[in-house]
Amino acid sequence: MRRIVSFIAVGALAVVFGLSGCGRGESADPEVYAPDEALAAESQTPKPDAAADENRISVVATIFAPFDFARVVAGGRANVAMLLSPGMESHSYEPTPQDIITIQNADVFVYIGGESDAWVDRILGSMDTDNMEIVALVDCVTLVEEEFVEGMEGGDSDDGHGHSHDHGNDSHDGDDGDEVAYDEHVWTSPKNAMLIVQRIADALSDAESRKAASDQTNAAAYQANATTYIEGLGGLDAAFRTVTDTAVRHTIVFGDRFPFRYLTDEYGLDYFAAFSGCSTDTEPSARTVAFLIDKIMHEEIPVVFHIELSNERMADTISAETGTKKLLLHACHNITRDDFEAGLGYMDLMIRNVDALREALH
Ligand SMILES: [Zn+2]
Repeated sequence: MRRIVSFIAVGALAVVFGLSGCGRGESADPEVYAPDEALAAESQTPKPDAAADENRISVVATIFAPFDFARVVAGGRANVAMLLSPGMESHSYEPTPQDIITIQNADVFVYIGGESDAWVDRILGSMDTDNMEIVALVDCVTLVEEEFVEGMEGGDSDDGHGHSHDHGNDSHDGDDGDEVAYDEHVWTSPKNAMLIVQRIADALSDAESRKAASDQTNAAAYQANATTYIEGLGGLDAAFRTVTDTAVRHTIVFGDRFPFRYLTDEYGLDYFAAFSGCSTDTEPSARTVAFLIDKIMHEEIPVVFHIELSNERMADTISAETGTKKLLLHACHNITRDDFEAGLGYMDLMIRNVDALREALH
């Protein structure tokens, strides 16, 4: 079955539970995600500590990257929370009743948006959002369509889940006829991150101005924090560009899903992967694995990538078969609890990505 869809009532809200990010349900991997673990983690999820300072605005983001952007912009002047628990695979996420209440109480709510965040739109549609600033990441940037490259599962029209991969059959209403599947991993490009950070800073500033009791100097601080961070993202962009401009090859291979379309587009890289960023599948066919192994052998590619919170089985297989090194390219959907507690952010993870790409391309 696909992503869990269920109805529950939270107060006056009747909410269709759907999914987070680009995912659809079958990607849940028992090795990295189990409902019991998720429940255990849930109680430790950082929530806005309203009791700590009720005059602070409350900011809620669904996944890690925009959570971290908001945290940096807020600079300790706002209560910032992430709906996902650290370590939870984002495509398996289902909002709890408490999550709905957390969204309801937010002054600023940040989510990915787009087709697979339709559950968010349904929740927001049932709430009074007049006093809420809402940022959808997909509205901050220029979108590209989800892409199926050679060798990728789901790209064939005759395998039952072609280009629009299930979306058209989903339970939500509307114009299924000419549906375009956009790639929603917009934050994976530092250039896009700059646009998103500025939009988040503007939303925090606007929310601040609604709060009569709040300190109006916060808005200026948010803008200053955003400016500094965007400068840092400019340095990150330059680092990616240096690595890719001086590379001896420009092709990367993923024994995994591929959520980096915006990154590879930005820096002129080609890629091969087992699945698109939004795929529900995690078990590749023998043909797909053979194709990727063949690519690596023929093009003498030294690295096979996996993404964060993956079971890594396919990358392990390809690595063992070809003698290539297995490396992580972190898409920042979410981070491990250890990394979370160490205070790592998008910038730290992306700098690691620069290093990983250097190994793969040089
Ligand atoms: Zn994703």
